[in-house]
Amino acid sequence: MRAELVVIGAGPAGLAASLAAAARGTRVVLVDAATETGGQFYRQPAAALGAGRPEALHHRWRTWERLRDGLAARSVRVLTDHHVWCVERTPGGFTVHALLGPEQEEPAEVHARAVLLATGGYEHVLPFPGWTLPGVVTAGGAQAMLKGALVAPGRRAVVAGTGPLLLPVAAGLAAAGVEVAALVESTGPGRLARHGRALAGKLPEGAGYAARLLRHRVPVLARHTVVRAHGDDRLTGVTVAALDTAGRVRPGTERHLPCDTLAVGHGMLPHTDLAEGLGCGLDGLAVAVDAEQRTDVPGVWAAGESTGIGGAALALAEGHIAGCSAAAHLRGTAPGPAPAALKARTKLRRSAAALDAAYAPPAHWTEQVTDDTVVCRCEEVTAGAVRDALDLGAGDERTVKLLTRAGMGWCQGRMCQAAVAGLAGCPPTPSRRPFARPVPLGVLARQHTQEELS
Ligand SMILES: Cc1cc2nc3c(=O)[nH]c(=O)nc-3n(C[C@H](O)[C@H](O)[C@H](O)COP(=O)(O)OP(=O)(O)OC[C@H]3O[C@@H](n4cnc5c(N)ncnc54)[C@H](O)[C@@H]3O)c2cc1C
Repeated sequence: MRAELVVIGAGPAGLAASLAAAARGTRVVLVDAATETGGQFYRQPAAALGAGRPEALHHRWRTWERLRDGLAARSVRVLTDHHVWCVERTPGGFTVHALLGPEQEEPAEVHARAVLLATGGYEHVLPFPGWTLPGVVTAGGAQAMLKGALVAPGRRAVVAGTGPLLLPVAAGLAAAGVEVAALVESTGPGRLARHGRALAGKLPEGAGYAARLLRHRVPVLARHTVVRAHGDDRLTGVTVAALDTAGRVRPGTERHLPCDTLAVGHGMLPHTDLAEGLGCGLDGLAVAVDAEQRTDVPGVWAAGESTGIGGAALALAEGHIAGCSAAAHLRGTAPGPAPAALKARTKLRRSAAALDAAYAPPAHWTEQVTDDTVVCRCEEVTAGAVRDALDLGAGDERTVKLLTRAGMGWCQGRMCQAAVAGLAGCPPTPSRRPFARPVPLGVLARQHTQEELS
C-alpha cells in the first residue's frame, strides 16, 4: 500500500495528526496494532461485546466522536491489527513493516513519503515482594480490562504507586462496582502544592476525581506505599506503610489490607523503538522534536507520549501541530498558523513537567526489594542476582544484563529496565532495540529473499 503520509499509532496524537494532514489534502494511512482506533485514552470495547453505553467508561467522549467521525469524513485509510516492527528508509521515502492480526506471523508493508510516529507510552512498574502474584496488575492494565473488555479485574482492589493515572483508575474501578479498599499514593500533598502554579489548570480535573472517590468512599493514603503483596497462588492482600519525607518506610506504620486485586503503576515511559530504529535523536528517554514536532531525521515527525509523557490533551495538540507541519512539507509550503494548538501545547507541557516533578517513586524504593524478589519476569532474574552482579563490579544496566540475562527475554527489558537501573544506582539509558516487536524468522528470511531478487 502507498500513501503520502503514514501515521503510526491511532491514539489521541495519531488521530489528531491524521485529521490535520488529511484536511490539508494529504493522502494518509493510519496504522495501529489494536483492533480499534482510540489508543489508550479512548480505548474502545471490542465490537463483539456489543457495549450499549461505552461512553460511561470515558470522559471527553465528544472529542472522541469528532475524531472518529473525522477519519471517515476525511477518507483516512485506517489499518488496525497492524503491529509495526520496523520503519525503514527506502528510496523516495519510507517502508513500514508490520505483522498482521493476533498471530503476528503474516507480514504487511506500507510505503510513504513521510512518517509520523504517535506510538504513545507504556507503564513503568517497580518491583516489590509479591508483585508477580496473579491478581497484581498494572494500573493501566486494570483500566484496559474495564474499557476494552468490560471486565472488572476483581471484587476488592487496592490501587497503588504514584502518578495522575491512579485517580481515573480508582474512580473507574469504583464506578464499575469494585470495592476500592484504598488509593495508596506515595507522593504527599506538600509536593503537589510546591508545583501549585503550574498545576492550577489541572485543579478542576483533580477535584472531579476527588469528588468521585469521596462519593464511593475510597480512602486515599497519601505518602504511603505498598511494601508487600501477600498470597500463595494468588493475591489475598497487601501490606502498606507510611513514608517519611525522605521517601523511606516509617517503621511501625505497616498495616494489612485484604484484597484480590492490586492495580499498581509508577508513571509512564515513552515508546521510542521505531524512532530509534530510524536513527532519530532522543531527549532523555523521549523522541526529540522541534517546534513543528519534526525529529532530526528528515521526513519523520513524532507527537504525543513518544515525545514525553503529558496526557491526552497534550497529545491532541502535538498531533495537530505535527499533522499540519507534515502536510505543509509534503506540499513544499510552510505550515499555516495553529495558534490554539500552540498555546495549548505550551501550557500543557508546563503542567506535564510539574506533574513529572511532583509524582516520583519513593527515593528509597530499592530498600523494600528483598533478594528473592523477581525483577526481570521474562528471565526470572531476582534482585539478589542483580546485587551479586553489582558486587562483581557491574556498574550499569547493560553489564548487569550481560551477567544475569535481566532484560534479555520476550519484553526486551521494557518491564525491568528501570528497576535494574534503580538497583544499580544509575539512570535508565535508551535501550536501542532493533525491532519494536518480536519477528518470526520466516518473515525476516522472506524479506531478505525479496531484497536479493529486487
Ligand atoms: C495502559 C494505559 C492506560 C491509560 N489510562 C488512562 C486513563 O484512564 N486516563 C487518562 O487520563 N490517561 C490514561 N492514560 C494516558 C493516556 O492514555 C495518554 O496520555 C494518551 O492516550 C496519549 O496519547 P498518544 O496518542 O500519545 O498515545 P496512545 O493513546 O498510547 O496511543 C498510541 C497508539 O500507538 C499504537 N502503537 C504503539 N506501538 C505500535 C506499533 N509498534 N505498531 C502499531 N501500533 C503501535 C498503540 O496500539 C496505541 O493505540 C493511559 C495510558 C496507558 C499506557
